Amino acid sequence: MVVKLSLHAAGSCFQLEKLVLQGGRLKNIRFPAMFALIKHPSEGYILFDTGYSSHVLAETKRFPTSLYAKIIPIVFEEQDSAANQLKALGISPESIKKIILSHFHTDHIGGLRDFPNAEFIFTASAGNTIQELSGFKALTAAFIPELLPENFWQRTRQLDDSKLAPDPLNYPGFERGYDLLGDGSLVAVNLPGHAIGQIGVFVLTQERSVLLAADACWVSRAFRELIYPNPLARMFIADNKAFNASLQKLHRLHCLRPDILIIPTHCEEALCSLS
Ligand SMILES: [Zn+2]
Repeated sequence: MVVKLSLHAAGSCFQLEKLVLQGGRLKNIRFPAMFALIKHPSEGYILFDTGYSSHVLAETKRFPTSLYAKIIPIVFEEQDSAANQLKALGISPESIKKIILSHFHTDHIGGLRDFPNAEFIFTASAGNTIQELSGFKALTAAFIPELLPENFWQRTRQLDDSKLAPDPLNYPGFERGYDLLGDGSLVAVNLPGHAIGQIGVFVLTQERSVLLAADACWVSRAFRELIYPNPLARMFIADNKAFNASLQKLHRLHCLRPDILIIPTHCEEALCSLS
């Protein structure tokens, strides 16, 4: 079974390249907040993350969440939201039945409230880390609880990180995963480190395999050349050892299977490669 895939930016932010790449330039570069739109032949449209939305702008007007916008200035226009981009494509937000969440950072869950009929798929360990967070504690985890719909916890499918099945795709380093639809078209794999319980998803399209790699690295050069982030970027990394291990896995996959397109969520080059 194969699916169709397109990539879209729902807003962006700017950060120094030096922060995400050791030896990088002291230059601000754009980091799109990407979401992926997947069209499955029988399951319909499925989203991987959502990017920013007007809900993020509204929530970051209040203290202490306003500090988030100070640390990470957001560039966002109303038409950029995942819901509005879908509407422009003739797809109603109500028709989205599944959203895969790589992790719970603001720039990934920003649009969840716009999809009232979606089931949310994520790892139990990612869910456990944010379930009780509020106020400053949530902010230090780049998580804004108010971005979750009121009935969020009644609409979840939580993947048990300790019960991985053999990955039907069996790519090097990713021998185990979660075959989300049971047909091998979407296989989630663990990419922890940047956030606890972070997942990526292998997407099998007609043309090739794509790995939506979430924030396992920020730019494609990092996995191609195995460049670690600046130590200062550790404030955006939950577990540095796990982050390095996930990045090494991506680098190895790239070396052994250069035919697989690896898409870090915030990489402008990756966005252009498929949009
Ligand atoms: Zn993140």
